[in-house]
Amino acid sequence: MDQAFDAVLFDRDGTLIRDVPYNGDPQRVVPMPGAREILRDLRTHGVRTGVVSNQSGIGRGLLTETQVAAVNARVEELLGRFGTWQICPHHPDEGCACRKPAPGLVISACAALGVRPERTLVVGDIGADVAAAEAAGAVPVLVPTEVTRPEEVERAPRVAPDLHAVAGMIR
Ligand SMILES: [Mg+2]
Ligand SMILES: [Zn+2]
Repeated sequence: MDQAFDAVLFDRDGTLIRDVPYNGDPQRVVPMPGAREILRDLRTHGVRTGVVSNQSGIGRGLLTETQVAAVNARVEELLGRFGTWQICPHHPDEGCACRKPAPGLVISACAALGVRPERTLVVGDIGADVAAAEAAGAVPVLVPTEVTRPEEVERAPRVAPDLHAVAGMIR
């Protein structure tokens, strides 16, 4: 990719850290391979970073906002500070404008960072991440995991095997 990016937004679960469904325990936070390295790289080069994360566990009554905040704090302990955190706490049935695949989180993150969506890369592990990026006018890249469906991989305009490969796309 010969395009330069002003910001990179990351999905949290299954992209920055291992996906532990509805996790409220900071001790269970484990970075994905390459996460530390790509973030160090981006910060060194002055590229803004952010997290865009669906946390429907809150809306489902399975998690408190305090637990999610504690997990997010642990993510920053392990991976460093992000320029913005955009979290959707809603239940899927609420039909909010922020839950991915809706563009709300990506649009809010770009606004918070003062960057244009078309100069923003969005990294995620499922089709909803790609769709949210596209709906916001940002540039998606899918890094599949074992939960990613084959049709989501097929449909994604850009696929990378891991975060090391994403770092290679940005430089
Ligand atoms: Mg994910
Ligand atoms: Zn929402």
